[in-house]
Amino acid sequence: MTISPNWRSENKHLQILEAAEKGKYGVIAAIAYNIEQIIGLVDAAKKARSPLILQFFPWAITFGDGILIKTAAEAVRNCDVPISIHLDHAQNEELIKKAMQLPFDSIMVDMSHYEKEENLAKTARLVKLCHERGIATEAEPGRIEGGEDGVMDTEGLEGSKTTPEEAEEFVATGVDALAPAFGNVHGEYGKIGPQLDFARLSQLRKVLNGRVRLALHGTNGFMPELMKQCIAAGMNKINVNRLVLDDYYEHLYATVEKVPHTTLMEQGVQQVVDLTVSWMNICGSAGQA
Ligand SMILES: [Zn+2]
Repeated sequence: MTISPNWRSENKHLQILEAAEKGKYGVIAAIAYNIEQIIGLVDAAKKARSPLILQFFPWAITFGDGILIKTAAEAVRNCDVPISIHLDHAQNEELIKKAMQLPFDSIMVDMSHYEKEENLAKTARLVKLCHERGIATEAEPGRIEGGEDGVMDTEGLEGSKTTPEEAEEFVATGVDALAPAFGNVHGEYGKIGPQLDFARLSQLRKVLNGRVRLALHGTNGFMPELMKQCIAAGMNKINVNRLVLDDYYEHLYATVEKVPHTTLMEQGVQQVVDLTVSWMNICGSAGQA
């Protein structure tokens, strides 16, 4: 397989993130678990005239032999707004090789469960493998606490904030986007709420100086103001999970015994559309496509 030397400018995911950096807005990168959510997220992007990143956990590669990911590719094929497909937290080489057989525009090479030297070496090798196939990459320098839906928890390994040195070391692996650890947490924040270190984030942004795009992980329970603050601080890719799906599940649990299944699905799609459009407005991506 020969890949064009300027594959970067042709990669949809990188095009979306470049435009976000230039336009100073954040692009929602939403996890989808089923077909209603895929349809709802894509419809939200069309309705808001917004770019979008459709994300999957590695679970979706084995579930139904990747049918959700293939369906997502089908759903975005004739879309007139830019939508890329990304694999979140791919934590081993075997999985990344499987993912390359699927229509991903970007893969998160997450080796953060290894100690740093091994993490860096593995990241560099796997980033190269992805790039040779025209696939963009993301990595996590430092260690974001917590785990979610099949993504390995950093058991026994303490979360640690990304240092400027680590950021440099990861840029050297050739990775396209970084997900810094600056007090953000995977899963739930608990009573005290998010305690983000914006001083650290601004220090990292200064050091990185536009060489890579920044991805925000761990946004469950974020308020609009905090989200806007993160985007103003340079976050381009905004990973969301419950933030755009909460209304869908609330509707599902409240309605499952009351309406026909087809109606349940249609109403569920609408719940995803409405909540996602509201976050596209908050992140400033609405109207940018
Ligand atoms: Zn994450």
